[in-house]
Amino acid sequence: MQLKTAKQAGLGVCPKCHKLNAMVLNQQRCVRCCAQFYQRKPYSMQYTLAWTIAAIIAFIPANMYPIMVFYKFGAREASTILGGIGTLARDGMYPVALIVFIASFVVPLLKIIGLIILMASVALRSRFQLEQHTQLFRIVEFLGPWSMLDVFVVALMTGIVNLGFISSIEAGAGINYFIFMVIATMFAAQSFDPRLLWDNKNNINESTK
Ligand SMILES: [Zn+2]
Repeated sequence: MQLKTAKQAGLGVCPKCHKLNAMVLNQQRCVRCCAQFYQRKPYSMQYTLAWTIAAIIAFIPANMYPIMVFYKFGAREASTILGGIGTLARDGMYPVALIVFIASFVVPLLKIIGLIILMASVALRSRFQLEQHTQLFRIVEFLGPWSMLDVFVVALMTGIVNLGFISSIEAGAGINYFIFMVIATMFAAQSFDPRLLWDNKNNINESTK
């Protein structure tokens, strides 16, 4: 037996006060608390796609430009994300190198791949592995702020090591792109409506508008 979804029954729950409303439009006000809400996030796929593309574009300069610039006795030395990880590993700081590698490189990349898988699942009307895809969405959403670890490392280093003339560290141009990339993936995850995954299973073939 296939169960009816709230959308098929013309119902929608208010996210603010949890009142079940009869839905006339996709977007309307709650009859009890007047909060505006949607049955499905409007243009969810379009926004997710746009933010994911923005994140992919920002990922390139974030890794090409230096995120930290060192000045040692006047000599300038710039370091990219991967270059910095290499330096940490060469200095024998393997655990720190591993943490930075996972937080600054692996996690953002996995998030972008995860978002692409989720969008493909909705676009191709996949009915398989919906539980796993929903779990994937939760992981992508949870990982969001943790990618900012690298930004904190740079902020901490510039704060601690700034000794002025002899040696100093400043943030490079790459960090701006990195921050933008992390924010873009967070917006992408927020724009995605996981209910769209389940609409495929229930054969709700309406537009995602
Ligand atoms: Zn309400």
